[in-house]
Amino acid sequence: MKFNTKAIHGGQHDIDPAYGSVMPPIYQTSTYSQTTPGGHKGFEYSRSGNPTRAALERAFASIENAKHGLAFASGLAAIDAVIKLLKPGDEVISTNDLYGGTYRLFTKIFEDFGVKFHFIGMENAENIEAYINDNTKLIWVETPTNPMMNIIDIKKCAGIAKKHNILLAVDNTFATPYLQRPMDLGADIVMHSATKYLGGHSDVVMGALMLNDDELAERLFFIQNASGAVCGPMDSFLVLRGLKTLHVRVQRHCENGKKVAEYLRDHPKIEKVYWPGFEEHPNHEVAKAQMDDFGGMISFVTKGNDYDEAIRIVERLKIFTLAESLGGVESLAGHPASMTHASIPKEEREKTGVVDALIRLSVGIEDAADLTADLEQAIG
Ligand SMILES: *Cc1c(COP(=O)(O)O)cnc(C)c1O
Repeated sequence: MKFNTKAIHGGQHDIDPAYGSVMPPIYQTSTYSQTTPGGHKGFEYSRSGNPTRAALERAFASIENAKHGLAFASGLAAIDAVIKLLKPGDEVISTNDLYGGTYRLFTKIFEDFGVKFHFIGMENAENIEAYINDNTKLIWVETPTNPMMNIIDIKKCAGIAKKHNILLAVDNTFATPYLQRPMDLGADIVMHSATKYLGGHSDVVMGALMLNDDELAERLFFIQNASGAVCGPMDSFLVLRGLKTLHVRVQRHCENGKKVAEYLRDHPKIEKVYWPGFEEHPNHEVAKAQMDDFGGMISFVTKGNDYDEAIRIVERLKIFTLAESLGGVESLAGHPASMTHASIPKEEREKTGVVDALIRLSVGIEDAADLTADLEQAIG
């Protein structure tokens, strides 16, 4: 099955043997009746499993070309489950330009449990080798990175991980499987904040893991059930509905993203635009090789790098909503220095490029002309 068909039908067989409903019913139940102790029809308690969530989990596996899918209460709950594969003394090598919540989970929760994290630039995958030792158990990759849109070569990372017998996990939230399929490039685990493009309508918080190895899947299923950060049936239904338009939505995100990126690049008041689709992007060749298109996430800096001017721009936007998050049908704008990265000291955030005037856009699927007109009136 090709991607566009999988987005709609992947894993969706025998959805409703009772009445043949085309969409899986929302099994809003916590438990299931048993005829005799242990005599049930495959489900006994909804933390362990729920038919609506199971339908979504099969769809998750299908779109990432994986054998197993697991759905969690949030993206961070999914990451939390992955790190719980580790033990005190184990080490993780992670992307440095990382989603802030992931960084917080690693440093403020798991470091206290004795897991050691190395945050490094991975645009040259070879950098990873220097940090590998006998305790290294996991390489954590996010690409494109947030908010600087750096690109990391997944295939090269997979080669290094295989050579040293280390797990490779890829946060594929920004790219979506429509544009980038890490399993095919050698990743062991794919992770999503389904809150973003997979759900696609800014109405659900959810996380996902996709993987192939049966033993690893069994261990992660055990952690999912034992730790309990599962998503509910209603949210499962909503994300399953979102998935059915993933391909058409992301296609339009890419078209609009290109138009907005090019508009910003030509604007006399704009200093720099970060978007992997530009030939001058330092990792453009890698992006071209591992992604089918370049997505709708764009960051830019105005000339003069003025903090207050950046705030004024995001406040003046009318169609772009000033808000955290990304990946919904509606366009969003954010100011990392005062929002997502406010807790990071100025010198630290500037090292990775998060300067005062950096603005991040999640370009939605509205009419592109309306979006550029909105930027025009806001930037002035
Ligand atoms: C939002 C996000 C997360 C965290 O997901 P939640 O659903 O908010 O818990 C992780 N990684 C990336 C890249 C994200 O954008």
